[in-house]
Amino acid sequence: MSQVISLADIRRLAADFAQSGIVAAPLPTESGKVFYQKVAADDVKDIVLDGSLKCVNSIKEFLFPRHEVLYTFVRKGNDVELTDAPVFDTPQLILGCRPCESASLPILDPVFAWDFNDRFFQSRRAMTTVVSIACQKADSDCFCTDVGGSPENTSGADAILYPLDGDRFEVRLLTEKGKVLFAGKTTESSDVGHACEGPKATLDTAKITRWLNSHFNDPLWAELARQCVGCGACTSVCPTCHCFDIVDEGSYQQGRRVKNWDYCQSALFTLHASGHNPRPDQGARQRQRITHKFAIYPEKFGAILCTGCGNCSRLCSAALGIKPALEKISSEAAEDLMPVPPLWVRNTSDK
Ligand code: SF4
Ligand code: SF4
Repeated sequence: MSQVISLADIRRLAADFAQSGIVAAPLPTESGKVFYQKVAADDVKDIVLDGSLKCVNSIKEFLFPRHEVLYTFVRKGNDVELTDAPVFDTPQLILGCRPCESASLPILDPVFAWDFNDRFFQSRRAMTTVVSIACQKADSDCFCTDVGGSPENTSGADAILYPLDGDRFEVRLLTEKGKVLFAGKTTESSDVGHACEGPKATLDTAKITRWLNSHFNDPLWAELARQCVGCGACTSVCPTCHCFDIVDEGSYQQGRRVKNWDYCQSALFTLHASGHNPRPDQGARQRQRITHKFAIYPEKFGAILCTGCGNCSRLCSAALGIKPALEKISSEAAEDLMPVPPLWVRNTSDK
């Protein structure tokens, strides 16, 4: 038997949660586009729970905010008094995200616990329950199946919803947090939900990694640079991009040290005080983003830094993002691996 819950009961659950915690879920904006946003108890009626929906942004901002205070400082005579920002201790529910969003969380865990335990990310992660929704429709930007995911990937989720008939969902409980959240809220049923088939896998990521490791100076980087305008939209909506900068705000007398999102597609990201930039053009910056995701991160942490969600391509005004770049690399890699023709063929033109 499966566990089933009505849409009305999910909205009630979210409203109850929002009384003492944070609920983040897909909400439409005035533009008609849907974003993961904080939902007040009175607004749970507007939550969109739709397995075909592709929100513009990523859930990462509820675990790794765009802007976060690390500590404040006040000058007192010859001393400086520092006050740590409080540890995040509010229960948080992320409701109705795609499986390719929740899958980013276990991929990000090691980078925030590697040489330094980032208590800001870790406390949010510990306080957050994630309920995903099985994907009902892949679009042309999706490629989760190429990077080990699927429309019903449960990685990073505490429970997953399967739409049944519009206002009922099958709930599959995956962790203790998921069981606690839905305790007493579901009924037994013989109805079972399904996900869509997902995009057909066409990329060989091992081949892409090998190509990246041996084509640092390939002409492809200049080709991508002609398309990319360096806006960084791809990185801001990417559930796995996690670069940040640390700056002081305020005055000499008092202020705060903050962590802000930063992005590798900007020339300023690597500009040295001397004026030297080790990534001097957009091609070098495209190479960095793709190589980090498909060669450097896998080598260091054993996981591809991409869930195939397609957010970057959907938002890119230059029709780029990572999937078209990977497809170009794939065709280059295929040519590279073509068997070398025998000598008598190569010498034909000499005759
Ligand atoms: S790939 Fe697209 S979204 Fe990303 S920086 Fe370039 S133009 Fe902007
Ligand atoms: S690189 Fe693009 S497809 Fe991959 S996780 Fe980031 S936004 Fe999604």
